[in-house]
Amino acid sequence: MKFGGTSVADGERISHVCNLIDKYLKQDNKVVVVVSALAGVTDELLRASNLAGKGEKEFIKKFVDELKQRHLNTCKKAVKEETVRRAVEETIKDTLLELENVLVGVAYLRELTPRIKDYILSFGERLSTPIVWGALKSMGVKTQWFTGKDAGIVTDSNFGSARPLMETTSHQVKSRLQKLLDEDVTPIVTGFIAADQNGVITTLGRGGSDCTASILGVALDVDEIWIWTDVDGIMTTDPKIEAKARVIPQISYAEAMEMAYFGAKMMHPGAIEIVMEKGIPIRVKNTFNPENPGTLITKEQKVESRSIVKAISLIRKAALITVEGAGMFGVPGVAAKIFSILGEKNINILMISQSSSEANISFVVPRDMLEDALNALEVKILGGNIAREIKAEDDICVIALVGAGMVGTPGVAARVFGAVGKEKINVRMIAQGSSELNISFVVKESDGEKAVKVLHKEFGLEK
Ligand code: ADP
Ligand code: ASP
Ligand code: MG
Repeated sequence: MKFGGTSVADGERISHVCNLIDKYLKQDNKVVVVVSALAGVTDELLRASNLAGKGEKEFIKKFVDELKQRHLNTCKKAVKEETVRRAVEETIKDTLLELENVLVGVAYLRELTPRIKDYILSFGERLSTPIVWGALKSMGVKTQWFTGKDAGIVTDSNFGSARPLMETTSHQVKSRLQKLLDEDVTPIVTGFIAADQNGVITTLGRGGSDCTASILGVALDVDEIWIWTDVDGIMTTDPKIEAKARVIPQISYAEAMEMAYFGAKMMHPGAIEIVMEKGIPIRVKNTFNPENPGTLITKEQKVESRSIVKAISLIRKAALITVEGAGMFGVPGVAAKIFSILGEKNINILMISQSSSEANISFVVPRDMLEDALNALEVKILGGNIAREIKAEDDICVIALVGAGMVGTPGVAARVFGAVGKEKINVRMIAQGSSELNISFVVKESDGEKAVKVLHKEFGLEK
């Protein structure tokens, strides 16, 4: 069971979560718990690491103090037993002292490498997890907490979005956690963080606590992986955009992957990828509404007759780059060149489209990578006389429609663009995945939510 940031945002919510865990334990289940950082803490750590990297020191004391207050308050409300609470308080204070030292060090060095950033980001989960441990222990549950590293999760050294090395990980996790489970001890593991083969802390990418749950699930060969969050399950679209969004009771790995990949945010795509081979079902449930069955993600592709499109997602903060005048004959070579240049810079390409007539190539990247992408391309593509011009638009977003029902159904694209056109929304670029599980297109950021609503209605997804 993995609990996301909003599910452990404060002391009351942690008490609630621990009651839930206890309930399932009493029903004769064995549970491994994965905990995210308290809501918002990872974002704050990210901001702090960037400031420190620029050499700022003045903010550090206040920043660390505020984190201390928040975690101590949370601990006070959630951990009832006094001796346990003291132990948790000590851990919080020690951990924050370490954070303060690291931030000061970074500020003096004015150097923030991906490796140091991962180290700083790891503090959110290292602070939240002992509180959940204390709360559960206070309730009389036998339990022990681990960092991802101590639980045995080993990754490559791709800081910022490390991948698990599953052979070693499975072996280590089994030998460290299975024994506890056999003795009815409930292990609690920090989400998001692990270590590489040299023991250096890595993170699994933003939202990566979902991956931790999948990694542990696969290693321990569990019956089900439960992702507890703040909505009733995977929905037809983000309920924050469209209040009429519905819960999808069942969805295939492939469809859920497409949704997660296209920014549905509800789950990290890696979490699905990791379990696909073993076929362990994932259930997404709402901590605030635990009676709701939520969404079950499984291997099978159930095509419901009435839903051609199953869900619509919106990726915000994207940017569109167009390389023009690449010359008819050279196009394939140019595409390869562009992708290798961006690959070297670790820039993720979200979408690609190529027009054969004008020899233009367009692609979408995350907005915060735009500058890096343009710098690299200008030097190597323009400088190398490979293309005539590079254009960029930074106020765009991507809409993706996902559903197994689109496979072989003619006219879906016509319906999509007909509906969007009727609203006078200008479509800047279109792509269809070869799997036919998704159609995605680019519009102005300001048209994004409207496009989602129009399509949600067009495909009959409303409640
Ligand atoms: P957690 O902190 O539990 O990991 P996240 O914030 O990462 O939660 O993801 C849950 C959020 O994802 C929801 O609150 C919702 O706003 C958003 N979301 C976006 N698209 C969808 C979707 N199709 N179905 C459900 N939630 C979605
Ligand atoms: N705390 C991490 C993040 O905010 C991981 C997670 O919540 O899944 O990205
Ligand atoms: Mg998440």
